[in-house]
Amino acid sequence: MVNNRLSNLRQEMSRLGLDAVLVSQPQNRRYLSGFTGSAGFLLITVHDATLATDFRYTEQATIQAPDYVIFQITGAISNWLPELIADLNNERLGFEDRHVTFSFYQQLYDIIKDTRPRLELAPVEGLVEKLRAVKEPGEIEFITRASEITDKAFEQVTDTLKVGMTEREVAWMLESRLRELGSQTIAFDVIFASGLNAAMPHAKPSERRIQPGEPIVIDMGARFEGYCSDLTRTICLGKPDDTFKQVYNTVLKAQSAAISGIREGMSGHDADALARAVIEEAGHGQAFGHSLGHGVGLAEHEEPRLGPNSEDLLNANMVFSIEPGIYLTGWGGVRIEDLAVMDGNKPRLLSNAKKMDTGGLISP
Ligand code: ZN
Ligand code: ZN
Repeated sequence: MVNNRLSNLRQEMSRLGLDAVLVSQPQNRRYLSGFTGSAGFLLITVHDATLATDFRYTEQATIQAPDYVIFQITGAISNWLPELIADLNNERLGFEDRHVTFSFYQQLYDIIKDTRPRLELAPVEGLVEKLRAVKEPGEIEFITRASEITDKAFEQVTDTLKVGMTEREVAWMLESRLRELGSQTIAFDVIFASGLNAAMPHAKPSERRIQPGEPIVIDMGARFEGYCSDLTRTICLGKPDDTFKQVYNTVLKAQSAAISGIREGMSGHDADALARAVIEEAGHGQAFGHSLGHGVGLAEHEEPRLGPNSEDLLNANMVFSIEPGIYLTGWGGVRIEDLAVMDGNKPRLLSNAKKMDTGGLISP
């Protein structure tokens, strides 16, 4: 598996005229090597693959990354980098410009200038991320498992919700149920936003108590073998008012339009437009202030992007969220999010948690 990924990377390297790449972004490092430790660098050349990490991780690295030569590093970059790159000369070395700090870059630059002056540094934004966007069957299986855990946790906890519980109390019930059902850590902090708080797409759970009839936005994700899920449902305890029904049904209709209209090869921009048109037609265009969706994998947000400015193409075996929302200050909000994999020309949903029935879809 890792071998395939390395050969895909090397193909991209030769296309970009790179002789070596230094990988430091944690999920990219894990994706290419299998190593799950939290510190280290990969140096990948046309023929060699080296994993440089410190004493805390060398044993783990040997077990998890059998395709790599393990290189133990100690202390400051200047202690070990010259030896790591000793075989490179007169070549182009890619580095992950979006992920290294300014101070790391300065040190890298100075060391290369002093020890390997003919080596050229080349920023490689998104090189590994692009490979990660297309999932292997095993990765889709892990995301499916994470989604099943999330569906179950959502349904089990929301069945026991009562008016008067606080947002923080329920957020913890959701988090602990995710863990009990097999989530290894959680994908991101649970969002549980009730009433007016639901007008904030990424609200933090507060001490606010749930009231009847108001919108409650729940956004949560599990992690299985490193892979995330991402699910949002909006619910209501008691009888929803007319605003709720109108807003909810518009968001649901927008999501259905995207799920049924997205096709393989479509751009992230065109996918977003499918849902946005429904929300704009209902007069809420300004209230859908975020993108339609994002890729999900080892990271909870990754490529491809589905949004008004995205040229990303939705290709076979990409996994992404479809999550339109409407947020009205002074009232609350509604977001509905499912995960899908591009399978046989169209999206197939990986999440299955039940959605509210507010009396069917309405025309805008
Ligand atoms: Zn989400
Ligand atoms: Zn999401």
